[in-house]
Amino acid sequence: MEQGFLTIIKEVFNINKGKGLELLLVTEGVKRGDLLDWTLLKKRKKILLNINDLMSIGAPITYFKVSDLIDKSTDLTINYLRKNIFFYNTSRATEPEIQDFKQAIIEQRAGKKEMGWFYEYPECCIQAYPFCIYYLPEFTEWRWCRVDCKASLLKQEQYKKVIQEHFKIDTFQF
Ligand SMILES: [Zn+2]
Repeated sequence: MEQGFLTIIKEVFNINKGKGLELLLVTEGVKRGDLLDWTLLKKRKKILLNINDLMSIGAPITYFKVSDLIDKSTDLTINYLRKNIFFYNTSRATEPEIQDFKQAIIEQRAGKKEMGWFYEYPECCIQAYPFCIYYLPEFTEWRWCRVDCKASLLKQEQYKKVIQEHFKIDTFQF
């Protein structure tokens, strides 16, 4: 990873550990995308500036705001959704795929299939949700379909490898 990318990602890590690590995984391309949700409140502005900086120095990353997709007059079932911002690795999703995803958000039908795709969760775990066991081992953030889910174990290793390459972290729970 380019040093310039890493410097910015470390700034985000200092604001919010979880978001810093997610940004690292997405920039590295081991994760398609992630979310800056409304609960980050004011921190989010700073993180967004960092993502803009990443983009300006050529990181394969971009984002979109739900508020730009959904008209203010539209009645959202869950109003805070309007404040969500999705960022993603541009080499991990085609433009039509992103359009489909945005469309699902606009029509308020983005469920486990769409969200699972965006976050790039294992297919077996997406299928099993919500009837999967509540099992969130280190470095992962989805409910595994089973304790020894092979796809999850593989992803966990990928995440761990990328994270530990750049941060001194033995264990992390998103
Ligand atoms: Zn699974």
